[in-house]
Amino acid sequence: MNHALRRKTVVIGLDCAEPSLVFGRFRDKLPHIRALTESGWYGPLRSCDPPITVPAWSVMTSGRTPGELGIYGFRNRASRDYDHTFIARGDAVTMPRLWDYVGQAGGTSIVIGVPQSWPSSPIRGYLVGGLFADPATGFTQPATLGKRIRQNWPDYQTDVVDFRQKNKHKLLEQIHRMTRIRFETAAYMMRRYPWDFFMMVEIGLDRIQHAFWQYMDTDSPYYQADSDWEDVILDYYILLDNLIGEWLCDIPPESDLWLVSDHGAQTMRGLLRLNQWLIDKGYLTLKYEPETSAMLRPEWVDWSRTRVWADGGYYGRLWFNVKNREPRGIVAREDIPALKKELIAAMSVIQTENGIIRANRLSDPEKIYPAQRGIAPDLMLYADNLALRVSAAVGGTGALFTLENDTGPDGANHAAEGLYLFRSGDRSSRGTHPASIYDVAPAILKRMGLSAYKELPGDFPHV
Ligand SMILES: [Zn+2]
Repeated sequence: MNHALRRKTVVIGLDCAEPSLVFGRFRDKLPHIRALTESGWYGPLRSCDPPITVPAWSVMTSGRTPGELGIYGFRNRASRDYDHTFIARGDAVTMPRLWDYVGQAGGTSIVIGVPQSWPSSPIRGYLVGGLFADPATGFTQPATLGKRIRQNWPDYQTDVVDFRQKNKHKLLEQIHRMTRIRFETAAYMMRRYPWDFFMMVEIGLDRIQHAFWQYMDTDSPYYQADSDWEDVILDYYILLDNLIGEWLCDIPPESDLWLVSDHGAQTMRGLLRLNQWLIDKGYLTLKYEPETSAMLRPEWVDWSRTRVWADGGYYGRLWFNVKNREPRGIVAREDIPALKKELIAAMSVIQTENGIIRANRLSDPEKIYPAQRGIAPDLMLYADNLALRVSAAVGGTGALFTLENDTGPDGANHAAEGLYLFRSGDRSSRGTHPASIYDVAPAILKRMGLSAYKELPGDFPHV
């Protein structure tokens, strides 16, 4: 234990863990997690906007907004060119995260599988990459750690190969194996290496919920009765609960323990074809329209007659074609506020051939982020409060609503609330209270005795 630090901290991250399942529907089947709720604080954890793995884990571990990080999703615009994008990997995060603060104070961290931790900047301690890290080409710091992991677990995987693949048997087997190995690796590293701060994120829950949600939810438009997969998600939560239960014996009781998720999950109810809506309303004009539905390509757009276009995914990003900002922009800068207002009003309720889509939430990044780096969307859309994915596809029948996901089958979309559980290492205090993803980093820093929490706006008074 480093003496500049007041206490050790363990963070177990379950990507996409859904509060209504963990604290509700599955509660009685998860004895170890339930015991944690009875010995500490817990509740829903409001994610950032957008509530997506990238940037949510970086928001949680830095205490900074997506605006400050300049990361608005996996894919981001790299310049104002129409097709110049980059994937926000670990090297896109320039703000210090929890392990950086711990290292500055002379402490040691173990970080395993945290999204956007790879490629990694130098760490004082040990790091195993998550998303974007490939065990075959190097995925750890120091590199010798990766060799040791691969010797012990030749099948170590940072993520599943394709969670939207059709072969569900293979996918399920892969996710279970990956998860068991991750927990074994974590327990091994906790015993073998020194640490003050320990954080591990398991991505398997996100993958399994996207792939299998529709089999457990009779309310899903993709529901199939009598499938073999009805209990797959429950069984996986039980697996996680068992693995956490086994691991708890290794976690020193005097360390603080957090169980957190970056966002929740909900039934996906279909897709809104946002670019098609923009075409219908005259905001977007194409000079070529594909016969079968296909993702919008910049070369199909008549930019001289286009004011707005969109990218899809778990949420929709609306981009304005602004004069002297985009290469062939036509919207005058002074007209941006009026255009935002017009779209927010027009999109609050959208009529499609499948009915009316309500609860469309539009956010203006200029208003929700106190600072903005990189290129933020001009508006962000949560269609039906994220129950619908947003598709960037155009053409085909020209429908506004579809059940066909453009990136492959998917039964769940994200929900804006994840969860947290906190067990204090030094006092017994318990209860339930909602919190925000911005509260986690300052609470951990404060409890570890690191003054950097004062720079961060979040607060977690009850822990
Ligand atoms: Zn996630």
